Amino acid sequence: MSEPTHPPIRPLSDSDARQAAAAILRAGGLVAFATETVYGLGADATDETAAARIFEAKGRPRFNPLISHVADVEAAFALGAATLAARAVAEAFWPGPLTLVLRRAAGCPIAWLTSAGLETVAIRVPGSADARALLAEVGRPVAAPSANRSGRVSPTTAGHVAAEDFEHLELILDGGACAVGLESTVLDVSGARPRLLRPGSVTREQIEAVVGAIDIVGHDAAITAPGMLASHYAPAAPVRLAATTIRTGEVGLDFAGQIGGEIDLSPSGDLVEAAARLFSGLRALDRPGGATIAVAPVPEVGLGAAINDRLRRAAAPRG
Ligand code: AMP
Ligand code: MG
Repeated sequence: MSEPTHPPIRPLSDSDARQAAAAILRAGGLVAFATETVYGLGADATDETAAARIFEAKGRPRFNPLISHVADVEAAFALGAATLAARAVAEAFWPGPLTLVLRRAAGCPIAWLTSAGLETVAIRVPGSADARALLAEVGRPVAAPSANRSGRVSPTTAGHVAAEDFEHLELILDGGACAVGLESTVLDVSGARPRLLRPGSVTREQIEAVVGAIDIVGHDAAITAPGMLASHYAPAAPVRLAATTIRTGEVGLDFAGQIGGEIDLSPSGDLVEAAARLFSGLRALDRPGGATIAVAPVPEVGLGAAINDRLRRAAAPRG
């Protein structure tokens, strides 16, 4: 048994360290970095395999959508549509601990796994100037949920991150103790009326002072409540799970070459690759009013549990 080896810890304020981090991120690797909220476990948000590595490292039992971090407001609204409310709160609270859920802009490069298949993207311009300098250096949106294993508390120091012993983490950028120490407020401004999805240090009252009355939505309820199609991705076509053959008239989503489907999530049976391709694969086979998607069995181990969770939701009856 070898001892776990911690990744190097370098100062976020050091431009050489940020350059090294940016190179790792652009190559699809994982870098943890300080923001004013909590430490984030970062990966290139446009790279579906890199996003899959985040879920693998955190051991998340399901794929919830990730927040993409960018250096400035202009970069944010290149990714998601700027509604009037979005512009107003961005002006008031960015850079800062507020995440905005926006409709995907045309040509938005954020990977489908990053947004968990949704037509909306969650974007934040962090308050930490050093974090923004890193993001500017990367030149791409960086997906970064809190840098803790699933079920553990969010890290607010570099030491907390090191203690998580993430297997594929290549570098930790230390920005000291997080000033806010709480996850960002999440506000959905993709629709007619803003909806608060997650409370945080930017308060409801502060937001309402800018845009008027907003709706309050229990976030987990929104993601799991049946019939709330906007809150999690479901294909238009029916989905049949645990298929051992593709029936006449069906299209096949395969895993490890079991059923000879049009798309194979991973011919070699690699669950990281399968996670990376899950939402783009479903989308590619999903034609409105189209053929049932027969899905080969995926083993319920490691990332397979999160893949199966999403597949079960995709197959759930809806009215
Ligand atoms: P984390 O990155 O772990 O701080 O969590 C991100 C939070 O933002 C979670 O609560 C997500 O479910 C939420 N979120 C991210 N993207 C979306 C989206 N497109 N629609 C709704 N909620 C989102
Ligand atoms: Mg967290």
